[in-house]
Amino acid sequence: MIVFQLNCGTGHTFDIWFRDGATADRQLARKLVECPECGDRKVSKALMAPRISSKGEKVPGQNMAVLAKSMRDQLVEVRKQVEANCDYVGDKFAEEARKIHYGETEARGIFGEASEEQHKELSEEGIDVARIPWLPRDDA
Ligand SMILES: [Zn+2]
Repeated sequence: MIVFQLNCGTGHTFDIWFRDGATADRQLARKLVECPECGDRKVSKALMAPRISSKGEKVPGQNMAVLAKSMRDQLVEVRKQVEANCDYVGDKFAEEARKIHYGETEARGIFGEASEEQHKELSEEGIDVARIPWLPRDDA
């Protein structure tokens, strides 16, 4: 592993670990690295000598950009699964979730939008709904 200090286009400075220098250059060139502060992808290496991690050293916790990226990948995957397996009910989500819970309609996976208020009501009624951060499609 190798760590580089990076700067984003708006002036944040942060450290990112890469497998090696070539990987760092490739990811930077393809704008795969984003600023953990502001999400800017205009990231470039700050002027400093890289530090090489000693053997067995764990990737430090501050590697948020990479973490955020892998979380986002997981969410994209969740979204795909949900879209493939569940019925989209739009803003009727709360209504449909209730009907399913009370056996008034066929039990199935559904997804849609619910307000903060609706979500609270559903959980108070003991209706199990998962909230997932719904990301805009990223066609990068
Ligand atoms: Zn930034």
